[in-house]
Amino acid sequence: MDPSMSPEIEAVRDMVIRFMQAEVAPVMDGFEQRREFPRDLVRKAGEAGLYGAVFPESVGGSNMGYVAATVIQEEMGRIDVRFAACNNQQGSTCPSCIYFGGTPEQIQKYVPNLLAGKTIGMMSLTESGGGSDAEGNMKTFARRDGDVYRITGQKMWASIANETDVGVLFAKTDLKVGAKGVSAFIVEPKKYPGWKAQPVEMMGLSSAMRTNVLFLDDFVVPVENRLGEEGDGFKIVMRALQPGRVTVAGKALGVARACFEEAVRYANDRVLRGQPIGRFQMIQSDIAEMATAIEASRALVYKAAQMMDDGLPSNRISAIAKFHASQTAKMCADKAMQIFGGYGLAKEYRVSWLRSYADLFFTGEGSANVQRIMIAEDALGYKVADRHHGKTGLRDIRKDDVGKELKPKA
Ligand SMILES: Cc1cc2nc3c(=O)[nH]c(=O)nc-3n(C[C@H](O)[C@H](O)[C@H](O)COP(=O)(O)OP(=O)(O)OC[C@H]3O[C@@H](n4cnc5c(N)ncnc54)[C@H](O)[C@@H]3O)c2cc1C
Repeated sequence: MDPSMSPEIEAVRDMVIRFMQAEVAPVMDGFEQRREFPRDLVRKAGEAGLYGAVFPESVGGSNMGYVAATVIQEEMGRIDVRFAACNNQQGSTCPSCIYFGGTPEQIQKYVPNLLAGKTIGMMSLTESGGGSDAEGNMKTFARRDGDVYRITGQKMWASIANETDVGVLFAKTDLKVGAKGVSAFIVEPKKYPGWKAQPVEMMGLSSAMRTNVLFLDDFVVPVENRLGEEGDGFKIVMRALQPGRVTVAGKALGVARACFEEAVRYANDRVLRGQPIGRFQMIQSDIAEMATAIEASRALVYKAAQMMDDGLPSNRISAIAKFHASQTAKMCADKAMQIFGGYGLAKEYRVSWLRSYADLFFTGEGSANVQRIMIAEDALGYKVADRHHGKTGLRDIRKDDVGKELKPKA
């Protein structure tokens, strides 16, 4: 319960907590041990509305906005971040790319099923040449062949690509240019040959929801599945990654809180020299630093989410929120592990793997250095972080879309 939030938002929080505690917490360890993707649970989460908060009702969303979406991510991240590993694929970057860059027909065909958890999503931009310079290092090529594209190449870190029904994949249609050579495609790997996803063994991350190397060999995409025009891909993904940063920041905040809660409980339970270790001042110092950083992150993350709900320029504040929240998660994971002593390294204690998620949020969805660069270049007057606000020519998601017909792009 956060007294600064409205009763409606706190009702959303209650709903997520109830869902996660009743449906996910009792079974997620089993999915992890069996290395099994929890398809039915994702569908139930979709039915409960956990993926559609920012989308208008006309496409199956609930139009509650980014503050609500961020609360959902925060509580999912706090209660079981492993299950939250597919949130971006179901409710953020994947459907956002389709919504921002697609035709009304593409949106109606694909977005409602993703939000409902009926189809499993994916968003694949990164290649092994380097995620921070995705457009410069992209080698995957989409060759036009009549009514289809044939895509050949190798993508890296394609999360859930081994399970996906419908995803968004970025490939070059012109290898000679950088960002302007990138195009976006809605892919359906179960319908067409040439797609092989090979899960990567990761340290401390979910074994049920996995990330993959993706091998594409003349993989077919109908021309009607291209998003926008050839060369629009980079614009679309950059637009989708901005709100993605805020929701990832919410998830990082949830991980920071989970570490804090574990640390507080353990500090009260663990008795050394005749007293709980929470009575030691150096442990108290760690607890105080964690509590303070979490409050600061919360203020930043919800400021960014509120500015997005208000339609204000929010690229800069999103970068700041994600940078701070992922740093906070890393710091809290580190301190929680120290408070647990040797037990913090044992798999049965979740602080051991929460740390890997903190590291992931530090790197994924734009690394910490990339956020640093954006924040600093804006401050130094080299590049205004919000220079593209309202000028991308892409469809927007606004709270006032409620009840309205889906409009073609501006
Ligand atoms: C578990 C996992 C899941 C993922 N899921 C997806 C997914 O579903 N889809 C997808 O497309 N991608 C995904 N990613 C990729 C992720 O977004 C990238 O890892 C991220 O963009 C960083 O790219 P990189 O790992 O290639 O690091 P690099 O880009 O090689 O960066 C290496 C280091 O250099 C730093 N750096 C980069 N540029 C600069 C600079 N100009 N100045 C100073 N330092 C710099 C970075 O901060 C980093 O510390 C996933 C990654 C992981 C680990």
